[in-house]
Amino acid sequence: MSIAFKVYVRCLNCQKDYGTTLQPPEADDAPTDIDELLESNFLSSQRFKCGDCESPIATVTGVKALRDGMTVRTQALCS
Ligand SMILES: [Zn+2]
Repeated sequence: MSIAFKVYVRCLNCQKDYGTTLQPPEADDAPTDIDELLESNFLSSQRFKCGDCESPIATVTGVKALRDGMTVRTQALCS
């Protein structure tokens, strides 16, 4: 069983929305669901980069959890 997260973010510089797929490491404390991901150091250690303006500053607007490639949960976040 493998879990991955699709994280949707909005660039704070040019307001472009983009998504990035995160694959947590195989570790005991790796996040296994969206709530854990949002609280994790794993997420805060990610570096985003806008495809248009290359700004690394972005707001997370939503997260999708994928298990073995199937969507198990989607959560929109207020920003
Ligand atoms: Zn941008």
